[in-house]
Amino acid sequence: MGGDTSNQIATKQIATKSVIATAAGYFVAAAATVSTTRFDGGVAFLWVATAFLIARLATLRPKAWLAHLLACGSSGAAVTALFGLGVTAAVPLAIVNVSEAVIAATLLRHIQIPEHPLESMRWLAGFVVTTGMLAPALSGIGGASVAAIIVGADITTSFARWFAGHSLGSLTFTPVFMLLFRNDLRDWITAATRKRAAETTLLLLLVVGVSFAVFAQDSMPLLFLPLLTVIFATFRGGPLTAAMSVVVLTIVGCSLTLQGSGPISLLHGTMGDHMQFLQFYLAATVLTVLPISADLARRTNLIRELRDSKARYRMLADNSTDIILNLDVDGRVRFVSPSIMQLGGFEPSDLVGQNAALLVVPEDRLSAAKSHILTLRSGGAMVSFEYRALTANGAERWFETRSRAVCDDAGAVEGVVSVLRDISDRKVIEAQLFYAALTDPLTQLPNRRAFQLELERLVENTELQPLFGCVAIFDFDHFKHVNDHYGHEAGDRVLREFGRIAMATVRGDDVVSRIGGEEFAVLLRHSSLDQAMIVCERLRVAIAEMVIVVDGRPVRVTASGGVASIDLEGAEDVFRSADAALYQAKRDGRNLLGRAT
Ligand code: GH3
Ligand code: MG
Ligand code: MG
Repeated sequence: MGGDTSNQIATKQIATKSVIATAAGYFVAAAATVSTTRFDGGVAFLWVATAFLIARLATLRPKAWLAHLLACGSSGAAVTALFGLGVTAAVPLAIVNVSEAVIAATLLRHIQIPEHPLESMRWLAGFVVTTGMLAPALSGIGGASVAAIIVGADITTSFARWFAGHSLGSLTFTPVFMLLFRNDLRDWITAATRKRAAETTLLLLLVVGVSFAVFAQDSMPLLFLPLLTVIFATFRGGPLTAAMSVVVLTIVGCSLTLQGSGPISLLHGTMGDHMQFLQFYLAATVLTVLPISADLARRTNLIRELRDSKARYRMLADNSTDIILNLDVDGRVRFVSPSIMQLGGFEPSDLVGQNAALLVVPEDRLSAAKSHILTLRSGGAMVSFEYRALTANGAERWFETRSRAVCDDAGAVEGVVSVLRDISDRKVIEAQLFYAALTDPLTQLPNRRAFQLELERLVENTELQPLFGCVAIFDFDHFKHVNDHYGHEAGDRVLREFGRIAMATVRGDDVVSRIGGEEFAVLLRHSSLDQAMIVCERLRVAIAEMVIVVDGRPVRVTASGGVASIDLEGAEDVFRSADAALYQAKRDGRNLLGRAT
């Protein structure tokens, strides 16, 4: 609680100091211009105080505005009373001046202010319209009216002079004061290297030298020379150097012109006209330099962002086990991350400029090329595809690639960025799972599902051929008995033995499958029912003649079968027909072959 109170006191003290500092600054700015540029008893030709107040308000929270406004209003009134139009005009003019700053600062707040206001073109345009035109026009009406009522000055002349003085003053000095108030100067001094500080000092000395040389003579109108130097300083030194250059030029230009020297003195007219022309010249300088510095700052930020993002990207690319690949529109490698060394054995620099298709196995090249085109056309959407690629030593690896098109500012596709992942291990597991899903673990024969797939494939692929083939189903006779007498293990051996014998009996491209407990199916491709009956009869006999020795005891088994022709039955019914034939054989006494009719 006690800490809070002392904190609050400290905060209040800082706030009070800030108000006093602002009021003092405002007093100096107002007094300097009023005491030196009121040449004919009317309003001042130059006005810097509003710029000072706008910049201060722009860097304060609106909550803190009131105290600063009251303080500056009092300063302004004192200046008018002491050096200006006198006591009667003091309060009205103070109100007009402070209102102008409030209008400008409020409007400036409504232009979306990015982190660095002076660095955006949008801000700049809004600044010129609000601070350089709207606010001085409004305050000009008030100021000229006050001057007309109190000292009887001509209202049009007063308005014109007021508008010019305030507009030029605010345009020239608000950005300069803003840079100073925003701590940019302090930050810059802390961050600057010795070399940078030396360069800035040299640039400022150059501006001082050239300004002095130009304003100390009045034989030639060399006003463009300081402008060139300030632009040069801006390019080399950035916004802060630009602001300081303008300050330097202002001090040199004002003091020498007030002494009656310099090219502006060549103009016809009063000292007031000269000072106003000088301010016009300064405003033109600021408005030339600000867009340059805004754009330079934007570019500097952009380059920094680019560098950061490049560094992040590099970090990811270097530490990823995936390969990051950049291709141009034609598929040539623009960048490939170092992980290609581990995964593919390639030196990244050897691949740059090569066509990525060369890394893909010939069979997959067409689909890879299609995917590349699809990526280019999918407007930044992710495209994913799988293919086999060749490593440096010729080995084939499976890769999954996720790609996205890269577009330029205008939206035109200029390349593709991809992440490549080696999925060979996954492919092996997938193949194992696929095999397991279709294989009978006891006999390693295709299972019922695999048999059905084979059958479907046969029917699909041989639509044009008249002869499909036959399906035979075998079922062991009294198999329970084998299990009961010799044990389950013996039964299993019998089942495995069936697979071996059946495979040896049928043709290489025929399929032998275990479709149930002790039931097997055989797919005899391209054979007639007669031919199939002959082959299956051979198999039945081979089974009947088979002897398996279990614990020294011979085990003999028989099997019955049913054969049906696919071309007669169609793929769906062939199982049922073969089954019916099998059961007929069982009924007929077993160890027989039934023929579907
Ligand atoms: P049938 O002549 O009428 O066919 O008589 P069966 O005893 O062979 O009867 P069924 O065809 O119904 O036989 C099924 C038997 O097959 C039951 C079961 O003990 C045996 N069996 C099924 N799967 C396996 C297996 O994986 N291993 C072993 N050892 N026996 C199995
Ligand atoms: Mg059986
Ligand atoms: Mg059975």
